[in-house]
Amino acid sequence: MTMRTQPAQIQLSRRVSALKPSSTLAISAKARAMKDQGIDVLSFATGEPDFTAPQPVIEAAIKALEAGDTHYGPVPGDPETRSMIAEKLERENGIRGLSPDQVILTVGGKHGVHHVTHALLDPATDGGTPDEVVIPTPAWVSYAPVSQLAGGKVVEVQTRAEDDFLLTPEQLDRSITERTKLVFLNSPSNPCGTMYTEAQIRDLAKVIADAADSRAPDLVVLSDELYEKIIYGGIPHFSIGAVPEIAERVVTLGGMSKAWAMTGFRVGYLACPGEFGAKLIGACRKLQSQSTTCLPTFILPSIRAALTECDAQVEEMRGAFERRAGLIYGLVSEIPGLVCPKPTGAFYVFPDVSAHFGKRSKGGAEMSSADSFAAALLEEHHVACVPGEDFGAGGERCCRISFACSDEQIREGMRRLGEFVAGLS
Ligand code: PLP
Repeated sequence: MTMRTQPAQIQLSRRVSALKPSSTLAISAKARAMKDQGIDVLSFATGEPDFTAPQPVIEAAIKALEAGDTHYGPVPGDPETRSMIAEKLERENGIRGLSPDQVILTVGGKHGVHHVTHALLDPATDGGTPDEVVIPTPAWVSYAPVSQLAGGKVVEVQTRAEDDFLLTPEQLDRSITERTKLVFLNSPSNPCGTMYTEAQIRDLAKVIADAADSRAPDLVVLSDELYEKIIYGGIPHFSIGAVPEIAERVVTLGGMSKAWAMTGFRVGYLACPGEFGAKLIGACRKLQSQSTTCLPTFILPSIRAALTECDAQVEEMRGAFERRAGLIYGLVSEIPGLVCPKPTGAFYVFPDVSAHFGKRSKGGAEMSSADSFAAALLEEHHVACVPGEDFGAGGERCCRISFACSDEQIREGMRRLGEFVAGLS
């Protein structure tokens, strides 16, 4: 007779058991829970704009709902919206020759990362080795776990604060092997707040082209450009997909979450030109058809409104981020022992706090890592930021401070951070 397993003992899959939850969402949840208890927590942990989506975006969704747009839509999104994205990518990003079939709308940018990794990567089979994924770190928290979930082997390449956390061509060249299938690039960067110049991107593209011609013929770049419009450091955004030699092996990931303050709408997109682009986007369609089916249909007019009617609102928000970037960078730089590159894009500063490791806080907490620094800062001075451990190698010395909040909050939060640091001994 077989024993019946108690439900509590049922095993989850090894894949999901090994999957890390998103640490950025976890710290935001802790800050929210403290706030709910009436504690005056200032949160610098979230990765979303503090603005509401532009009015034309909201009205377009309401109108669509009122018109009865409540049914399933085409799996990759409607052709009209995909054409508009293709035109935008050609006009603004220099990515040529895209047809709507080489574009897919996804349920947020994160969904696009799931699609590409699952469409491309194979785990180790028959005693072989898994496909490798090169991730310059510190990097956005989801690249590594999602790549691993898809079966890939993550190869972290640690960038340096003195290089503004940018990958150098030499580092990229050294990291690519005959098993490398995917290279992540992210400019402007979450969590580092820095960007590549056009010349730097072109140098990386040359390494990709050379590697693809020699040892890594299946190499693909996933260029995450979600923050492309939140820039203020004098560096124009440049898409690696605009470099003709490698354009057909570059998947550009974009979306509406950040620049249009549309996080709750969940809109992302992927695009890749050429024959491979059609094949890859076709695979992503297949994955989408077996997962979310499609974007909510009443969101589609909002995407079109965002692309055609909201330039002024996007510029206004960008201007606010520019002002806040200057403010917070000045305040953080005045705090002894905190060192960070000047932010040029996105809405994060990423100071290295390791000068304080080995000290104790007033509350008696030992500063042995970014984790303990952030935990004591939250506990004792009620300021939430994200410790850098989960951003990969190099992140463990840093904390991510999001400045998607008011000037007053920035001033008060950085005052508290300064007070916390002053109390370390
Ligand atoms: N890529 C980067 C670099 C991000 O910072 C984020 C969100 O924080 C995403 C992708 C995912 O964005 P979305 O909210 O559209 O899924």
